[in-house]
Amino acid sequence: MRNPVIRVPFVDLKAQYAGLREEMNKAVQNVLDSGHFVGGPVLEKFEREFAEFVGANYCVGVANGTDAITLAARVADLGRGDEVLVPANSFFATAEAISNAGATPVFVDVDPTTFHMDPALAEEAITSRTAAIVPVHLYGRAMNLEPFEALAAKYNLLIIEDCAQAHGASIGSTRIGSSGRLTCYSFYPGKNLGAYGDGGAITTSDPHLTKQLRILREHGSPAKYEHSVVGWNSRLDALQATVLSVKLPHMTKWNSARRDHAKRLVGALTGSPIIPPVIPEGDEHVFHLFVVRCSCRNELKQFLEQKGIQTGIHYPVPLHLTGAYQALDAPGPRSKPVTEGLASEILSLPMYPELSEEQISDVISALQEFIHLFRPTTPRDFMTEPASQTISYNI
Ligand SMILES: *Cc1c(COP(=O)(O)O)cnc(C)c1O
Repeated sequence: MRNPVIRVPFVDLKAQYAGLREEMNKAVQNVLDSGHFVGGPVLEKFEREFAEFVGANYCVGVANGTDAITLAARVADLGRGDEVLVPANSFFATAEAISNAGATPVFVDVDPTTFHMDPALAEEAITSRTAAIVPVHLYGRAMNLEPFEALAAKYNLLIIEDCAQAHGASIGSTRIGSSGRLTCYSFYPGKNLGAYGDGGAITTSDPHLTKQLRILREHGSPAKYEHSVVGWNSRLDALQATVLSVKLPHMTKWNSARRDHAKRLVGALTGSPIIPPVIPEGDEHVFHLFVVRCSCRNELKQFLEQKGIQTGIHYPVPLHLTGAYQALDAPGPRSKPVTEGLASEILSLPMYPELSEEQISDVISALQEFIHLFRPTTPRDFMTEPASQTISYNI
């Protein structure tokens, strides 16, 4: 079949730049003229602004979101012999960062409505070697960390938050990052706050950890040519910092545009066999991704693509089944039925602030047409139906 014209791309970074062009060009030009490309006032300014945005005392810019998690783990002294609980449904980097710190990720299945780490299963996975938990605020939805805080207190564990998909998300009136804990962000271009290259940050309210993180990101160096520990070269450069400073004041508006789009899509899908995400009441979900569930996901994906609507799958392979981790002799049950079931039913629809009214209407009509033509069954209930059950497709 002929390739369809793309009407709704999955991400559209050009659309956002078009709205910022003048301001952005000026800011980038200023950095070029300053000749100051690594560290310095432009970085410090962004670090202050971002700490204020999330409600933490400190922010340490680093090279990317993966390094943010690795450095957070190392500064908290996690390493060889330590087991760290991570969700089986996340981007690979959550686990990779823990491995790169020298510790062992232990995968925990997720809750079937939030798709976030299930606290009861997390408790089952705890052993005498468990040292930390990494909750991931996946898809932009802030997790309720209370059950994990209870586990941390009971078993003396550390919590490091992976906030790579949830800049500005809140639970109630509490913004993620304001807990004072080590919270890790990515500024990869497609994230809610994205640089024009790689970037990341750790926020915390602990001045001692902040000082140590600044040493770790800079070759273990507290002062020029002094090296107190073996560290990393993991810096957020001045060009990326200035790009992020230009974008940051727009975040509240952008996140609320994402929520508005999400409400329209949820409204159109409620009661249909394409199950939309839950918009939690009173919390600020920032919809990094808009993930639906459908019993005939592959057919839906193909149908939308033929209509010029690009989609994604987050994530097609559960972390414990990736080539890198499938051989890991991890404690706990091997199978994660919820994550494994989701992997074949989830689909991410286009979601970004710059989506036009017309594009959203196109997406909604295509979804409705699919439901009418294909009559998918309602996805199975992971809590009551066994994983082995075959799913019937009404096609
Ligand atoms: C993007 C992402 C990361 C890693 O960030 P990079 O900047 O790409 O290294 C980590 N965790 C999650 C959940 C992510 O989405």
